[in-house]
Amino acid sequence: MTTTPSIDVHSPANGSVVGRVPERSAEDVGTVAGELRERQHSWEALGVAGRVAWLERYRDWLLDNEDRLARVLQSETGKPWAEATIELPYVADLINYYCAHAESFLAPETPPAHGPLTLTKRQRLVRRPYPVVGVITPWNFPLALALVDAIPALLAGAAVVVKPSEYTPLVTSEVASGWSEIGAPDVFTCVTGAGEAGAAVVDAVDYVQFTGSTRTGRAIGKRAAERLIPYSLELGGKDAMIVLADADLDRAARGVAWGGLCNAGQMCTSVERVYVDAEVHDEFVRRVVDAVGELRVGEDDQSYRADVGALANADQLDIVTRHVTDAVERGASVLTGGNRVGSGTFFEPTVLVDVDHDMACMREETFGPTIPIMRVTGADEAVRLANDTAYGLSASVWTRDTERGRRVAERLEAGAVNINDVFANLFTLPLPQAGWKQSGIGARLGGAQGIRKYTRSQAVVTARVAPRAEPQWYPYSPLKG
Ligand code: NAD
Repeated sequence: MTTTPSIDVHSPANGSVVGRVPERSAEDVGTVAGELRERQHSWEALGVAGRVAWLERYRDWLLDNEDRLARVLQSETGKPWAEATIELPYVADLINYYCAHAESFLAPETPPAHGPLTLTKRQRLVRRPYPVVGVITPWNFPLALALVDAIPALLAGAAVVVKPSEYTPLVTSEVASGWSEIGAPDVFTCVTGAGEAGAAVVDAVDYVQFTGSTRTGRAIGKRAAERLIPYSLELGGKDAMIVLADADLDRAARGVAWGGLCNAGQMCTSVERVYVDAEVHDEFVRRVVDAVGELRVGEDDQSYRADVGALANADQLDIVTRHVTDAVERGASVLTGGNRVGSGTFFEPTVLVDVDHDMACMREETFGPTIPIMRVTGADEAVRLANDTAYGLSASVWTRDTERGRRVAERLEAGAVNINDVFANLFTLPLPQAGWKQSGIGARLGGAQGIRKYTRSQAVVTARVAPRAEPQWYPYSPLKG
């Protein structure tokens, strides 16, 4: 008897095994996608209102299971309870948003007429879904990142297969089974496995939405190009924060503490490097160290006893350690933190100063609880350094002069810029966003574009007049026209 291979899922906080999932073969993934393709037609035929009704029931199921899902998520990610419980409300809000607007975002369009000949034809642009959408996700937000793409794709009329990270497959599997639990049409499922299962998804679907590292994104792009299927990529970042001399230093210091350390710094839009005007550098640094000093690091349960949780796995811990060591060896100073904590994958919130632009912590994505701060002279130097990166996800500018902040923002090479804030993707669903440069291609989250990307436009042309034959039809004759 052959046994299905499986993957043990470990808690990064204490190393214990918290679950096990099947490791699906490429053949399995192909079968799943084939079954979804067969069922997709009737899902599309339900129309937007029919699909909205299912999504609203699904939102209620998610909310009814909020606590249980957050516990599963916490067990496989090692997040503090406050962060384990934030993903689901965000998703519920996204469901409300797209359910309210799907009808208008997906409505057929009639383009403006052009010249008298146009008037002989009724022209409509209709939006039809890609039959099967594959959503491949990383480990940092295993519930939210699966659903923020699956939901608009489902509402657009596509069937969806999600492939979560092998490090955090449990909560994604749970939310996919919730779809069956409410008795919804069988057009949303989860396949578990590592990179091979992800590659099999790319080989089997009609559209791929990928969130993860730039390295994997590049491999997926190549594979999708071989099949000539469309894809969108949400990739890594090295987000810069610029603190101008007239900034509210207290707000900026608290902003970077949260923006750099939330989710232990494992957010694509984490603040990864800070450029501070020399005039206010020392005072800003003092306030950052104070704000970071208040934080509690460690394993949480459901009692809000930690602010900074575990890193996702030992590889992540190695990267953070390497970046801090490299910075110190090249002359940077650690003002607070700098070390591992306990036996799990915890790392102290770390503030680095006297960094320069050749250090790994300023060039490569760290994805950890580090705040490297560099002294600059004025906005021009800050903008030049902020743009000196392969990434272009998001950035922030801190100043009391918001007009000036906007002018600086428009010189930055990033898909989203905050002024006096962090995480441009929070509470901004109507605003489509996507990374520039090596931070992504085509992956718009939010607004009409966030749902339309799962559709193909179809031109439907109806002859308005009905003569026996059009002037340009056969037979050709010099007398015609
Ligand atoms: P990763 O690229 O290692 O893995 C992501 C997913 O891809 C996993 O499910 C993995 O199994 C799968 N995968 C691996 N190899 C594959 C292949 N050859 N073909 C298909 N699928 C494959 O990323 P990660 O380490 O899980 O996540 C961290 C990265 O994600 C960071 O770089 C972070 O910046 C990025 N991220 C970006 C965003 C964004 O919105 N831009 C959001 C969250 C995370």
